[in-house]
Amino acid sequence: MFDTHCHLNFKRFKKNLDEVIKKSILSGVEYFVVPGTDIKTSKKAVEVASKRNNIYAAVGVHPHHVYKLKSKNKEETVDVVIDQVNELLRSDKVVAVGEVGLDKHIYVETVYKTYRVDNVFISLQKQVLIKQIKLAIEHSKSLILHNREAVDELLEVLNNNWTSQLSNKTVFHCCEPDKKLLEFAKQHSIFIGVDGDITYDKVKQDFIKSVPLNLLVLETDSPYLLPEPLRSKRLYPNTPANLNIVAKYIAKTLGEKLSYIQKQTLENGLRLFNLESYKG
Ligand SMILES: [Zn+2]
Ligand SMILES: [Zn+2]
Repeated sequence: MFDTHCHLNFKRFKKNLDEVIKKSILSGVEYFVVPGTDIKTSKKAVEVASKRNNIYAAVGVHPHHVYKLKSKNKEETVDVVIDQVNELLRSDKVVAVGEVGLDKHIYVETVYKTYRVDNVFISLQKQVLIKQIKLAIEHSKSLILHNREAVDELLEVLNNNWTSQLSNKTVFHCCEPDKKLLEFAKQHSIFIGVDGDITYDKVKQDFIKSVPLNLLVLETDSPYLLPEPLRSKRLYPNTPANLNIVAKYIAKTLGEKLSYIQKQTLENGLRLFNLESYKG
């Protein structure tokens, strides 16, 4: 299987990273993509991927962390940060720009004390997203898109900045169950990322029945989105070893064989990140 989105670069895994990876491989995960959410975690993603087989990195600034750029800190203006992403894209084993996107969710827990979602912030998010989409195109990398409660704004940005080069190379990670997103994905060959919340989110369970199998990719978003029944037992953190739970749940929901879902989503993940030649 392919865990196309796991934050093995996060502090949560600092102490036991090798053990987490080992258990995940034993559970059947063969490939991993580790996305950054700011410069620090992007660098860490590159570091995690650099020494290990079949682990790849994505680098970029997540819309939530664009908040940092809202302050007047001269060290971290938009151009400086975009330059840093640009540099990181030259690193070995970076396969994508990500995770980048738009996010209008009002987070209860955030490191930003004054966090507020207003028009100034959303337009800054758009500016940073567009620059990062351009970097993906320039470097011929894939694109991991994060969206939360900002479907219309995201589709507007994509419509204005799309090039066919991004088709088959882009994923709506942890895709919201939205018909407009799915239509756009089908028209532009964008992959749909499915996570552990499929095991308890009724709307998502209905949604995946309408997603073409050749666009489906699996992800855990570890350490987040722990699937059931582990969630009820509070067995945090989520790890890529739980990807099989997601695969099994999808197989059951779609009435398909587990082995077929595993194989198809692995092939889709390899296509998404241009890794087909690595397949043994
Ligand atoms: Zn995300
Ligand atoms: Zn993520």
